[in-house]
Amino acid sequence: MLQFGGIEVMKTHGQAGEYRAALDRAHAHASGWLESLPARAVGPRINADELFAKFSAPLQEQPMDAGSVVDELARLAEPGLMAMPSGRFFGWVIGGTLPAALAADWLVSAWDQNAAMRFATPATAAAEEAAGIWLLELLGLPAGADVGFTTGATGANFVGLAAARAHVLNEAGWDLDTDGLAGAPRVRVLVGGERHASVDLALKYLGLGKPAEVAVDAQGRLIPGALAKALEAASGPAIVCLQAGNLHSGACDPMAEAADIAHGHGAWVHVDGAFGLWAAASPTHRHRLAGLENCDSWATDAHKTLNVPYDCGVAIVSRPEVVRSVFGVHTSYLVNDDRGPGDPFEKVPEFSRRARGVPVWAALRSLGRSGVAALVDELVAHAQAFAQALERMPGVDVLNDVVFTQVCVSFGSDERTRSITARIIADGTTWMSGSRWAGRDVLRISVSNWATDDDDVTVSLAAVAQAIAAEDAG
Ligand SMILES: *Cc1c(COP(=O)(O)O)cnc(C)c1O
Repeated sequence: MLQFGGIEVMKTHGQAGEYRAALDRAHAHASGWLESLPARAVGPRINADELFAKFSAPLQEQPMDAGSVVDELARLAEPGLMAMPSGRFFGWVIGGTLPAALAADWLVSAWDQNAAMRFATPATAAAEEAAGIWLLELLGLPAGADVGFTTGATGANFVGLAAARAHVLNEAGWDLDTDGLAGAPRVRVLVGGERHASVDLALKYLGLGKPAEVAVDAQGRLIPGALAKALEAASGPAIVCLQAGNLHSGACDPMAEAADIAHGHGAWVHVDGAFGLWAAASPTHRHRLAGLENCDSWATDAHKTLNVPYDCGVAIVSRPEVVRSVFGVHTSYLVNDDRGPGDPFEKVPEFSRRARGVPVWAALRSLGRSGVAALVDELVAHAQAFAQALERMPGVDVLNDVVFTQVCVSFGSDERTRSITARIIADGTTWMSGSRWAGRDVLRISVSNWATDDDDVTVSLAAVAQAIAAEDAG
């Protein structure tokens, strides 16, 4: 018997029982999936069109019990799942999931907190704030910067560049909030020739148009002298977007030098470090990002290198007052917390939002400081092991300096590279994606999963050798 406001109520356990039945089924299917990974071919066995035909049966008239829904979903999805969390998956730049982060993500769903306000959801707000402080410490970024949790690095780039836009226009005497963008001074945006496409996307959302490309070196790093020249060529508000972690080479732009030049021209410096920012969390690799802390905003993903479940990006802005002026809202029905840390919804574009920073808290707690560094170091070591072994194979060229997690390989002509890439994917032992870099078709290997071990590297290399042999046999 429970008492609410002096009224005694008999509450049955019916609803709780329904949750338990559905969650027990989900738990069984999730464990089955995770346990299938070590022995499983990486690729899906069925394509989206075939699967759509199965998912899209006419919606029945009557309700179905939750456990049966979960069973049906798992059964239908199983053959169409890509083993992205497999230690043998090296496609695009995609992390796996640390156990503590995955379990925390389940709790986030069960808690069902709308993580917008400190007043309403103090538990998730506090966990996210703590995760944010740990991130600033680990990445060597200024204490007191605002940390917001976005869907990914695209969203985080949007936040950083939105803050940049507001700040440089304000410095130019233009009130963006009141007067909008029409008629504003033109904001010049300068980016390296090999920035990620999501930077362009964020700039498009922000009405800033196409950025001006600055020349890069052979590893895709922005050339500081070229940046200086470009900035000198005109005046007015400017944003410089640097990159920590080139998608193909893993190289980082020269942060200290580029930030100095940009600041000398009054520009805001944003860093897209979706995966490469994590080099800063490793004493071994931090030197590649010297001067990182002098920039003004940073975007990274937690769902790549940190290995939390999708979706989780991190937007960090050195000037809290700027990002909160862009995204903050005061209305009659919100309860704002105007003291130090600010409310979560003032740091990202969304109002309502899942507490996606909580898995970050759990991931960092489970790894500890040394564990984060070891995670990064191991990813790099595996990438370098790939590169060393591939270089010894006849007819194989590793095209980049393997300084981080990315390896770009050519097997000779573009046609041969494409054909061997297709053979590797069809075989299913490992998954590596094709791309184009430095004027050539490449096989790109991205080591981003905490679960990858030496054996995964060995069997994946054997699969590559086998694909080459099959190609040679015609
Ligand atoms: C993945 C990636 C992005 C985009 O991140 P999402 O999480 O997919 O939104 C941006 N920049 C770089 C360098 C990336 O690798």
